[in-house]
Amino acid sequence: MNDAAFEAWVESAKAARIEDVAATVLNLKVQARGELQTACPNCGGSDRFSINAAKGVWNCRGAKGGHDAIGMIMHARDCDFIAACELITGEAPPKRESTFKPRDPQIDREKREERKDEDRDRAAQEAAERERQANRAEALFGQAQPIEGTLAERYYARRGIILGAFSTTDLGFIPALAYRGFTDPDAEEETHLGDFPCILAAARDARGVIRGVHRTYLDSEGRKLRPPGDANRNHAKKGTFRMGGASIMLQPPADGVFAIGEGIETCLSWLALAQRGEFGDEYAAAGAAAAYSLGNLCGSATGSKPHPCPPRGRKNATIYNGEPDMSSQAVWIPEGVRRVVILGDGDSDPSETRARLQTGAARFRRLGFEVLIHMAGPGPIDWNDAMLSTMAEQKAA
Ligand SMILES: [Zn+2]
Repeated sequence: MNDAAFEAWVESAKAARIEDVAATVLNLKVQARGELQTACPNCGGSDRFSINAAKGVWNCRGAKGGHDAIGMIMHARDCDFIAACELITGEAPPKRESTFKPRDPQIDREKREERKDEDRDRAAQEAAERERQANRAEALFGQAQPIEGTLAERYYARRGIILGAFSTTDLGFIPALAYRGFTDPDAEEETHLGDFPCILAAARDARGVIRGVHRTYLDSEGRKLRPPGDANRNHAKKGTFRMGGASIMLQPPADGVFAIGEGIETCLSWLALAQRGEFGDEYAAAGAAAAYSLGNLCGSATGSKPHPCPPRGRKNATIYNGEPDMSSQAVWIPEGVRRVVILGDGDSDPSETRARLQTGAARFRRLGFEVLIHMAGPGPIDWNDAMLSTMAEQKAA
């Protein structure tokens, strides 16, 4: 056997450029220094297989990927090393038996069916889990009593918010609700740390199903609770079950203007100012919903860009590029709304917040709404500060 000839044959397969092999063996066209993302010739899918010609690499989410055309062909054509070299060089191995066998279409079909079944099973499991979470969220909110006459009213009144002015039915109160948190900074799992009064807010999806429950735990005086245990990780406010994609409706919109903000108090404070005509007549009948988090308010971006003035110790910090990722989750907007007002609170990192709010604005514009960003500032103040200082000025006047 002529081993030198065999080695040369293997070497020529190894030397082949990944984009050339993609074209000749897989019939996939990759630009000379470009990137291709497509269905995997072996696993299917829609975009799980990628080839980067500039870097000479390939990847499949169903395999490991790698740097060589031989590995790519072994995966994409589901064959062994010798067969891959044969496909790449277009020649049978010198003085050796060809191991290349044409693919059996029956096996291909079976594999495709198996993958479809797996995908279906996974989707069914995820749907069942979402259903379980929704049932638990619904059951918890069902235990809440109306907020009238409870500590919840006192909590909001301390912040100048009179709940009777709004028509929300999605806030409730539980006099003693279990609080779970970390006992100390080393604790790895949350445990039951006591029962406390709690304001609940239902976070619903666009069909009205409760998906998540936001909690604001209080102390016995109606102040925000300082939870026991690890002060860094245990918060008085938390979103539970699934908050992503859900909204806490605080005031249904009456005339096509709808404000969305991060927190419940931010939205209620802005609404109070709007109802008093502080922003003009067009906003006096505005509706509002809280998103709970900045992420759920604005959705994600397709990528990032360098932070214009990186915070100390994070010189490689990035911010959103402003291009909305329309596949990410965010709050939904009710029927009949034409103008969306995104409420912005001042923050310690204004460029980061601004980039996120602008990404959100681009998202809702793309969905066909007229959008404006309404900042509480100038300066690091939130909408509750803005409302309290407006009320104080008017009292003084
Ligand atoms: Zn694959």
